[in-house]
Amino acid sequence: MILINGYAAMGSDSELVPYKFERKEPNDNEVLIDILYCGICHADIHQSKNEYGNTKYPFVPGHEIIGRVLEVGKLVTKFKIGDHVGVGYFINSCGHCKNCTGHEEQFCENGITPTQNGKLEDGSFTKGGYSEVIVVNENYVLQIPEKVRLESAAPLLCAGITTYTAIKYNKIAPGNRVGVIGLGGLGHMAVKFASSFGAEVTVLSTSDFKEESARSLGAHHFINTKDIVQLKQAYNKFDYIIDTVSAAHDINQYLQLLKKDGTLILLGVPPEKLDFSVGMLTSLRKKITGSFIGGIEDTQQMLEYCAENNISPEVEVISPKYINKAFERVIQNDVHYRFVIDMKK
Ligand SMILES: [Zn+2]
Ligand SMILES: [Zn+2]
Repeated sequence: MILINGYAAMGSDSELVPYKFERKEPNDNEVLIDILYCGICHADIHQSKNEYGNTKYPFVPGHEIIGRVLEVGKLVTKFKIGDHVGVGYFINSCGHCKNCTGHEEQFCENGITPTQNGKLEDGSFTKGGYSEVIVVNENYVLQIPEKVRLESAAPLLCAGITTYTAIKYNKIAPGNRVGVIGLGGLGHMAVKFASSFGAEVTVLSTSDFKEESARSLGAHHFINTKDIVQLKQAYNKFDYIIDTVSAAHDINQYLQLLKKDGTLILLGVPPEKLDFSVGMLTSLRKKITGSFIGGIEDTQQMLEYCAENNISPEVEVISPKYINKAFERVIQNDVHYRFVIDMKK
């Protein structure tokens, strides 16, 4: 066993505190990764506070991991010591079901093993990337292309892949009008990817002061949804709206903005249920769909796409001492646009 330092919530009302725990040595197919950076995803906060109702404590969050390979098992072929690698939302799946063999491991019929709070065979629960090292089967590890900046790459592994696959599998194409709601970790990547794919992107926000940053991220237009005149002008105009809000909110006003056959894509996962009027869908054959991270192959493809197209998340790098303050600021939407913990600070 390897004794390491990390940060854990000890209960639903506990702040994260320094926490020592053990990881097992890598087996023949596993890679031991020295964690350099870990992104702070809103799900880390929901889970720390047991807002999904299934958190096991002590809970070590972290599923946007960037690191360097320290050691490889003797059957590992894809990685060597020193490689820069990433680990995202899950570290295992059954490997043989239709979805696993179809490169959509995130939808494994037998259930993925999430990187944090995931149940292992021995009854223990996985501990995430707010820690010094992690051990992962090589099939669930990503190669970080050289051109990708390590410091800002972590959010690609959850926020990035979630928006990338939403755009890819909904076939968002040049000329499509795409609205983005929520300019946080997911939303800012949705703006970057959608505009890079050639869509005409509008940020829908309740605060005028976000217009400048929306445009600097690549948005072509901005609508203040509190301004009823602007909102009415946008009725029935959008092919897609990407909704990244992960708290309770009213989706009916956004359904109104979709054109015939338009699609609302939900990416944030609020712990609360959302209400919508069915008539909003039936009247113009509108659709609501969702998307959830991506398979390993798509994640690798997304990383290569970012390297080729110079796409990089906007991050604020913090030291581990700042995690609790960062959590508060994420809850208050006070982050541009993702916190990344420098685990070596
Ligand atoms: Zn996440
Ligand atoms: Zn499977």
